[in-house]
Amino acid sequence: MENTDKTAWETLRHQLRNLEGGSYREYKGIKGDYAFPDFTLSVDYVQGDPFAAPSRIRIHLPQSVAQFPSQWITDYVCQCAIADYLTRQVARVAKKLAQKRGSGKSGKIEIAVPSQAILRRSALRVDKSGVELRLTVGLPAFGRRIAGKAAAALLCEDIPALVAHSLRYEAIDSDALEQHVHTLEDAEALRNQLEENGLIAFIAANACLPRRSGVDERPLETDAAAFIPPSQDITKLETPHSGRVEGLGIRAGVTLIVGGGYHGKSTLLRAIEQGIYNHVPGDGRQQVVTNATTVKLRAEDGRSVSGVDISPVINHLPQGRSSQNFSTANASGSTSQAAGLIEAVEAGAKVLLIDEDTAATNFMIRDRNMQALIAKDKEPITPFVDKVRQLYDDYDISTILVMGGSGDYFAVADTVIAMDNYQPRIVTEQAKAIAQANPAQRQQEGGQSFGKITPRAVLPGSVPSGKGDRQLKVKARKDSLMLGYENIDLRAIEQIVEVHQVRAIAQAIIYAERYYFDKTRSLSDVLDCVMSDIERGGLDMLTEDGSQFGRRIMGDLASFRRFELAAAINRLRTVKTDTYFYSTRDLD
Ligand code: ADP
Ligand code: MG
Repeated sequence: MENTDKTAWETLRHQLRNLEGGSYREYKGIKGDYAFPDFTLSVDYVQGDPFAAPSRIRIHLPQSVAQFPSQWITDYVCQCAIADYLTRQVARVAKKLAQKRGSGKSGKIEIAVPSQAILRRSALRVDKSGVELRLTVGLPAFGRRIAGKAAAALLCEDIPALVAHSLRYEAIDSDALEQHVHTLEDAEALRNQLEENGLIAFIAANACLPRRSGVDERPLETDAAAFIPPSQDITKLETPHSGRVEGLGIRAGVTLIVGGGYHGKSTLLRAIEQGIYNHVPGDGRQQVVTNATTVKLRAEDGRSVSGVDISPVINHLPQGRSSQNFSTANASGSTSQAAGLIEAVEAGAKVLLIDEDTAATNFMIRDRNMQALIAKDKEPITPFVDKVRQLYDDYDISTILVMGGSGDYFAVADTVIAMDNYQPRIVTEQAKAIAQANPAQRQQEGGQSFGKITPRAVLPGSVPSGKGDRQLKVKARKDSLMLGYENIDLRAIEQIVEVHQVRAIAQAIIYAERYYFDKTRSLSDVLDCVMSDIERGGLDMLTEDGSQFGRRIMGDLASFRRFELAAAINRLRTVKTDTYFYSTRDLD
């Protein structure tokens, strides 16, 4: 990254000191690139006010200085592990270095702080050319006057110290870094072996599944019972760094998790749900891995649905409402879950997870007495118990269900796992014997096959645009996303783990609207296009919008899956859909 336009860092220091006492706006003049002895500092955005969103800077440290082992920085998985480790290291060091240097955000040094998951992030990238780090800093002020000397200390002393202590191989704990790399490589290896072994998930012996609290994803420390795989059914998989690993392998098909209340059913399902991600050493779930296309489904009454063909599971709605082209601004528990199911299949999910705690009962079961009281033609819903096998037989889509309150699923399950005191037992045979001895005597309502999945196209104009020539205002939280005045409720999207993912999803929605939403492209095609653009060009692709605003360099994006992008699009209330053009033509 040799740049002849770079200014010497001493000039920056001089300039900042000279700004002492000036009006805060004068900081705008420091935008640009500066050559430090070891690295380049780029000031990309200067805040307008000490209380406003902080300024954004970038640091590039060449590999000749960073000195990471060359076999690591050429491998894609290693790059990701190192970047993740360094991000956490920078966060630790920045916290120590940052000091209150005046009013508002003066003196703050911040990086987008990661969760327990190892994700690709725009905050830090490692490759053959070196390390690129993106931070925000609060440029110091007294009241609203520039604190120039403090700014010089922040940018010309604190930042070099941060670089020295967190981005150079010689300065960091190489054993911890190696463990990070190995943990990630092992998890990837485990996940890659699932399919060839007919598995959809694997939970290694001794994994720690419970979390500290409902709002703290770190492992439960005291009294956590380590996971012991059932001795009747131990699966062994190979890893590059931990040798052969034993655990519980969950096979493709229909799996039921049963057991008494508070015996750890939901905790197991939650760990499986999060097994789409790789986790940091010490998390407890480093060797809990799940098929990468696994989607957690749940009831979500009140959500909007646009043009989904839910007829495989719901028919004959009151007032002649269409279930083939179902739209609502206010779904019920069952219709929301039906829409979620079809949308997940449409997006390409091969494994579905459902927990009784968050499912609509009438979507899941309908027993003999209820069938006798309410005739089939008065009940739009075909219960999932009559559909779950067809889903596997017709579409090769597996389901893992937590169901402690009804035995109706015994007859359709391939595997039944009982949780007892937080430990699993395989009870498939007992469950099958019980189902045979006491047949449920209910009518099968599922018909001959699951039914057709009708692809939709998302039409242009689905996403709000900025007012006049102003950029669309985006406000991301972990559980919601504001696009202009439109709020997308993401509380039910449990596989989103970081606000940084939501920010990236926001950019991806805007990007999809700009380049791909069209009546001749199915939503699934759009997801393919967006995900492959990111694969090719990184998360920065999403902010290269070709508009009059130019490229915005964002340091707070994290990778996400097509399923969470689809989920956000599907919950955007301004979205307009149509049956996918080519499939309508095929029907004619
Ligand atoms: P269920 O779904 O069977 O009712 P949960 O999975 O919600 O039960 O677990 C009940 C409680 O037990 C939760 O507070 C959870 O954190 C805790 N828990 C789950 N697994 C373990 C474990 N292996 N060791 C200790 N506590 C656990
Ligand atoms: Mg539960």
